[in-house]
Order: sequence, then C-alpha cells, then structure tokens
Amino acid sequence: MRILTLTLGLLFVSLSSFATEGMFIPALLESIEDDMRAMGLEISAEDIYSVNSSSLKDAIAQFGGGCTSEIISSQGLLLTNHHCGYRQIQQHSSLENNYLKDGFWAMSMSEELTNPGLTATFIVRMDDVTAKMLQGITDDMSAQDRAAKMKENEAAIIEAMTRGTNHEAFVRPFNYGNSYFSIVTKTYKDVRLVGAPPSAIGKFGGDTDNWVWPRHTGDFSLFRIYAGPDNEPAEYSEENRPYEPAHYLPVSMDGVEEGDFTMVYGFPGRTEQYLTTDAVDYVINTANPMRIHMRETSLNIIDQAMRSSEKIQIQYAAKQSSISNAYKKWIGQNGGLIELDALGKKQRLEDSYRQLASLKGKKEYVDAIDRLKVLHGEIRDYRLARDVFIEYYFYGPEILSFANSFSDLIENYEGLEEKGELKKALEGLKSSVKSHFKDYHQPTDEAIYLALTELYFDNMPGELIPDQMRTFKEKNKNSIERMKMRTYERSIFTNEQALMKLLDSPSAKAFAKLMKDPAYQQAAAHYAGYFQKVRPQYGAKNQEIDALMKTYVAGLMELFPNKTYWADANSTLRLTYGKAEGSAPVDGMAYKFYTTANGILQKNATGNPDFEMPADLIKKLEARNYGPYAHKDGELRICFTGSNHTTGGNSGSPAINGKGQLVGLNFDRSWESTMSDILFDPGRCRNIMVDIRYVLWVVDVYAGAGHLVDEMTLVRGEEKAEMEPEMEMELTPDTQ
Ligand code: ASP
Repeated sequence: MRILTLTLGLLFVSLSSFATEGMFIPALLESIEDDMRAMGLEISAEDIYSVNSSSLKDAIAQFGGGCTSEIISSQGLLLTNHHCGYRQIQQHSSLENNYLKDGFWAMSMSEELTNPGLTATFIVRMDDVTAKMLQGITDDMSAQDRAAKMKENEAAIIEAMTRGTNHEAFVRPFNYGNSYFSIVTKTYKDVRLVGAPPSAIGKFGGDTDNWVWPRHTGDFSLFRIYAGPDNEPAEYSEENRPYEPAHYLPVSMDGVEEGDFTMVYGFPGRTEQYLTTDAVDYVINTANPMRIHMRETSLNIIDQAMRSSEKIQIQYAAKQSSISNAYKKWIGQNGGLIELDALGKKQRLEDSYRQLASLKGKKEYVDAIDRLKVLHGEIRDYRLARDVFIEYYFYGPEILSFANSFSDLIENYEGLEEKGELKKALEGLKSSVKSHFKDYHQPTDEAIYLALTELYFDNMPGELIPDQMRTFKEKNKNSIERMKMRTYERSIFTNEQALMKLLDSPSAKAFAKLMKDPAYQQAAAHYAGYFQKVRPQYGAKNQEIDALMKTYVAGLMELFPNKTYWADANSTLRLTYGKAEGSAPVDGMAYKFYTTANGILQKNATGNPDFEMPADLIKKLEARNYGPYAHKDGELRICFTGSNHTTGGNSGSPAINGKGQLVGLNFDRSWESTMSDILFDPGRCRNIMVDIRYVLWVVDVYAGAGHLVDEMTLVRGEEKAEMEPEMEMELTPDTQ
C-alpha cells in the first residue's frame, strides 16, 4: 500500500491505492492523480479541474440547488435524472398533457418549457482559505467574539472573490472547521425543459426497485440552459439564447467493461462518517424508527389516494416520491448499520482513540470524546423534537405550512406596505395559491392530518410540545378527529376562491383576522414552539458538539495517521472514483455489474404495476431495434454499478470514463449501500448509473427526438483522451 500525503488545511490525509471510499475536493486532485492513473485515468488532474483553462468542471452544474447535472452539447443541453427534474415535469403536467405518464419532447427549441425559479450553478473556483478565515482568531477569544471575527473574515473573502463580477461566493467549513474553502459560483436562471421519458422509463420499477439492484430505470431528463446575449446569466427572456459552455462532455458509445475506471463528478449533499457511537445510536434506535413510522403512515394514505384517480396521481406524484425516497433509504440504512455492527465498530474505534490519546498525553482529545457523550445525552430530546417537527410540519398535512406562508401578510401587513413590498408579497402569494391548489386534494390532506397529528403527540417529548398545541387538543376534548374537523371546516386555507378574493382586495384588517384561523394558529404554534422551546437549546448544544467534533476528527487524524481520510460531503463539488464492478453482498449470490433490456421485459411480465409499460415501448424493445446503441455483444445495456462513493445530491452526476467521456448517469445506490453516508464498506457499496447508450436509445429510437442526439458529440473506438479534440470522431446515429 502506497501512502500519499496531501495537505488539507492543517491536516495530513493519507490515501491507500484502493481508493473507492471518499469524495475528493477537485482543487486538490493532484495529490491523488497517480492513484487515479493507476486505476485507468488517462486525462490529467488539470483536465478535471482548472481555474486557468476549460476543464471537466465547466460542464458540471448543480441543478436546482439539490441535484447535479452536466452539459452534453455546445448549445447548453443539460442532462440530469428524471427524479431531479420530476417536480418540473409534474408541474407542467395536467390531465390533458400528462408528461409524467406520456413523456415530453420538445421537437424544436421553441417548444422547450420554462421553469421559473429553476437554476443551474457552475463552480468558478474553490480555494483553501483556512488561514484567511482564522486571521485574528486567538485561543482566548469568547465563542461570540470568535464567531464575529470569522464572519468578518468571511465577508472580506467573499468581497475580494466577487468584486466586479457577476459571481457569487460563500465559505464552507470542511472537517468540522479544521479547514475552510471559499467557493465562487455562477448561476444561470433560465433553464428550460427539453425532454423527459414517460415515468414507465424514467421511474421504471417505482418504489419496488428504488434503492435496489438489479435495476432497469432510465432515470434521466433533459433541460437546456439559456443565457443573455453575452452568454452570461440572465433572467428568463425570449431574447435569451442557448448557453455556450466552456466545456461539454463528449458521449462514449463504447460503454464500460468490468474493472474499467469510472469517476463521478458532482455535488454530494451530506455524509456523516465521523458520527460517534451515541449519535449513530440515535439514528438507528430513535430517529429512523420514528421517521419510518411517520412516513409509512402518510404513504399508505397517499398511495391509496393516488391509485383512486389519475388526477390525484398527478397531484401527489412529486410529494409521494420525496416522502418515499428517504423512507425506503432509512429502512435500508438501519438494516446495513445493524448488519455491519456500526455501533460496535464505532465503540471500538472510540476505545482505542481514548487509550491512544491518554497514552500520548493528549488530554484535549480525551476530554472531547467524554464531553461528546454527555452532550449527546443532553441533546437527545431537543434533537428528537426537531426531527418530529420537521417530519410533521414539512412532510405532514400541507395545510399548516401553506397557512404559514401567509405569515408575513398576517403579522406584518403595514410593515410591508411601508417598505413598498406589499404588492410583490401579494403577487407571490397569488401564484403560490394557484400552484398549491393545483396539487391539493383536501380529503387526502385531512387523512394525513388525522394520522400524523396522532403520531406527532406520541413521538414528541412531552415538555417540548408547544403549549398552544396542548391547549388546542384539550379544547377539542383530546380528540384528534375534532381537531381535524375544526381545522378543515373553519380555516380559509382550504378555500382557493376566498384566498384569491382576499389577495385581490387586500386590507390590513382582513389579514389580521387570519390570526384566529385554526390552521394558521396551529402553524404559528408549531413554529413558535420550535423557536422558543427547541431551537435555542438544540442550537447551543449542537454548536458545542460541532466544536468538539473538530477536535475529535483532528485527534483521529493525528492518532491514526495511516487511515484514509476525506472531508464529509457538504454539497460542494467533489470527485469520487472507482471501477465498474458488481458486488456480492448477500451470501450465496453475486450481482453482475450491468443489466440489459431483456430484464425490462422480464420485470414487465411479473404483472407488478411498478413495471407497467406503454405498448409501444414493449414493442420496440421486443423488436431489439437497438441501432448504434447496442453494446458490442449485441445487447442494449440499461444500468451498471460501480464502486464510486456517492450520496444524495450526486443524483444526476455524470459517470465519466478515463478519457473524460460520458458513459453513464448516476442516480442511486444499491440497497446494501444505503448506510454508506455513515459507514462505507468498499466490499459492498455500489452506486447505480444508467448506461448513457440507453439514454440515447430512448431519446432517438423510442421518442424520435434524434435531433437532440445530433447535438451531442458521440465518440467511439480507440480515440485518445477527449481533451485532445482533434482525436474525436463524430458519429451520425443511424437507427432506421
Ligand atoms: N437516489 C439517491 C437519492 O435520490 C441518490 C443517492 O443517494 O445515491 O438521494
């Protein structure tokens, strides 16, 4: 094993040559370049990330703040997952134009659909600013002074990084503040929907297959970035023109073979590899069981309602997906953490850490882990209250958060008027009222209220329930049914016309009256309860935990210098690399690393509604009309797995081969990997990608939108690295 060393702030990080665990900071790739080359990388670290010339990073955009996307043509064509574009596809859908069911394809640019609010953000540069952030910080400073000084330093860094540009910037802590990076971004705001396959392709397998291998989902959708006449970000305008990127990904027509190098470049959201035993115990034994129970309860209601009507199916599709995605993941995560004995492993690590730290006289390291234990005991109820609040308020009955979206007008009408912001607030609410009711089915919401309010009272630590909620329940003879009736029968927030009337002829008095609205009162009570009883304690303790985690992580790195270290994902751009490979996580069986179109037909034949497909798709697959998109063995490959370490946020990330060419689109992990945010196991953790040739087949052969494929640069054969453009060979797809 070769040990490479790189400086990450004040830390030494070592890497073994079997580098499948870890999400690496692209600005620091040089130190792992040799390792990647040994695994099959042909281009250089500078080709992947450069601030001086165009590089792969210029083709990668954070999509809508949560997912990843990549540019695949010189005209700003953007590829991401179907599940990442799901909300946009859903919002454009109606009974007349059901794009969720039938798919959508813009046959010319004029047919592309606008998506107000949707953004694509590129990274201009990332720089280690640890020293600058710590300037003027001394050991004897109070926490408050320290925070104030850091804020001042951050503002100066941002100012310097963005002066005279249309860029934005922010500073993020890495490894709990052992180092800091400034990240400069450029955000495009006119992103239009170009194409989406029917859900029978994009969401094939539904909840049955989500987080599961073998997989046959064509989880992709296409958008296009538009820019102003100067190619710079601009608000939506008909005058805007397709964005011309500094780099776009060429598409490999060769696919991957087992053992081939792959890398995934994107914006992983959050990992928590350093959680201590008590924190993991909280996840396994408290948070996950509560969340799973609450979500299972609402999913039972939503699923049944969706089955009852096509309209409700459209209305609740996106909501159902976001609830069920995490629900299923938490079940898998608990299974994996228990099976891998995460608690035992964490405990043993902490025991040796403590022993070693004592032996070396590192008192602050021992104190940190001891104090963390105490704090995890103290924070438990506050954390649970926060988690229950989030589940109930943001994923429970919609009437509450909807009512609360009026709080500005209800509480501060005159203030808005004085500041001249009233009109904007009223207009904003009018459009949100429309979109809320478009996707609202009151009986379903009532059923969710009934079931989840019960669970809310059961799970919330008693003394942290907001007083007003307790009183409201008592006033209703402790009957949730009565609470529900009172809420839905008397609230204006179930009545679109009445709300629109109010917004059309507004008055301070009329809005002030809503303070007595039962839905608004509950929403306000939950909010106030959280901010008064939970947040202050939770925040203070959590801040102390974070500060101690900084010491603990620094201690781990110092005491065990030969282990592999990488900074937890924090929604910043990262590169992860591995190989196309299968796995054998279950005794007596092994997973192949790819699936083919034959498996789609096999699953369809089971009769499970999650595998239903339109007749024309079945016909086209049965005809085996794969065109130039077949693998060299004649099969159409659908998905493949790799040992690239990914997490949520990596959805939509490109899977890139050693030449810098697009081979797949990341969209999921296998069931046996769902615990990898907390505990990564290189033997079993696999990410799941759609084979890019299946994407092309769907666009071209299935949907007849070959003009989109014509925009791309397809590469086949033994060309050299993509960064030498003269070696590229254009192919004209011929599928007739
Ligand atoms: N399918 C996942 C998600 O939606 C992506 C992942 O976590 O690997 O979050």
